[in-house]
Amino acid sequence: MSPSQSPEALRAGAILTIDLDALVSNWRLFQDMAEQSGAISGAVVKAAAYGLDVSRIAPALLNAGCQTFFVATISEAIQLRAIIGPAPSIHVFCGFLDGTGPDFVTHNLVPVLNSLDQVTAWRDFDKTMPCDLHIDTGMARLGLEISDVQQLVGDLNIDIVLSHLVSAEDSDAPINARQLTAFKSVLAQIKARRISLANSSGSFLGTDYHFDVLRPGVALYGANPTPNKPNPMTQVIRLQGRILQVRTLTNAQSVGYGSTYQASVGAKIATIAVGYADGFLRSLSNAGFVYFGEHKANIVGCVSMDLITVDVTNIPQALILPGQMADLIGPNNPIDDVADKAGTIGYELLTQLGTRYHRVYTGQTGKT
Ligand SMILES: *Cc1c(COP(=O)(O)O)cnc(C)c1O
Repeated sequence: MSPSQSPEALRAGAILTIDLDALVSNWRLFQDMAEQSGAISGAVVKAAAYGLDVSRIAPALLNAGCQTFFVATISEAIQLRAIIGPAPSIHVFCGFLDGTGPDFVTHNLVPVLNSLDQVTAWRDFDKTMPCDLHIDTGMARLGLEISDVQQLVGDLNIDIVLSHLVSAEDSDAPINARQLTAFKSVLAQIKARRISLANSSGSFLGTDYHFDVLRPGVALYGANPTPNKPNPMTQVIRLQGRILQVRTLTNAQSVGYGSTYQASVGAKIATIAVGYADGFLRSLSNAGFVYFGEHKANIVGCVSMDLITVDVTNIPQALILPGQMADLIGPNNPIDDVADKAGTIGYELLTQLGTRYHRVYTGQTGKT
């Protein structure tokens, strides 16, 4: 039975299709870039692999050859270990928290130590186990200050020393080079096996930023790591919403809650079964658009909890029959465009993707 005919698909107001081949080809692009400078590419799969379900995403990356995974929390790391087996390394950005030592031992996790306090606690717990070290070169968020580094004692078993870029998506931002210089200035003082600086966007700043390990996240999932330039990544997700009803207005009247849109008489309005409870952001009210094939239609009125309304006055009749699907995120309206219309970034759009969507995984390693 093809996925589009499964009972779940027939019941669904919206279908989220996730192309694991596209995911893998995106990871390979990073791996190929990395190999050119003698590095490797890891993969960041925090926040349920940016909303796409780590239990589907991680095995596909593993099959492609990825052996270095990054997550945000210890719980995510424990979940990931059960999915990918014992061999790949799992690095936990939040670092070492009180009382979690046994988790790191049992599940063979690597904490990304973020402060001198975490370093001390880890040393007291077990200084022989591998750890990573995060150096803050400008984010003022997580990581040891540059001036903290001299207080480190050289007895830790450090796998990766890393830092994180503030504005990597803006290749002209002067802070990129300042962070690179600051990072390099401390590397000589730290005995680590591997060095890592670049996230998705940072990997496109040139080989100076590559060191040993790339840490791409969002671009693996199809977002553009080089805004204002063509997207080098392949789109991974497609979100289709089902038309529940189409009406032609017999009066000029407003559409939706709060009368935020005034429609003319004769306007044709399609109601589609997706809303902010699905992570289809309310800020797309009177701002976003959807596609019926190659035809663009504006979202009119407020996005409500379970529904949106779309002006389909100029869409060919054959494309707007109840039961048919509109592309909410698709070939003509990729994640970044939709996020932009919503006043946010692709990261937020991805990680808010709803639990009510019927999810279909396609590609070599995917089967639903
Ligand atoms: C989330 C995260 C990444 C991945 O960033 P993307 O911009 O999604 O590629 C890399 N490193 C750290 C420390 C992170 O927190």
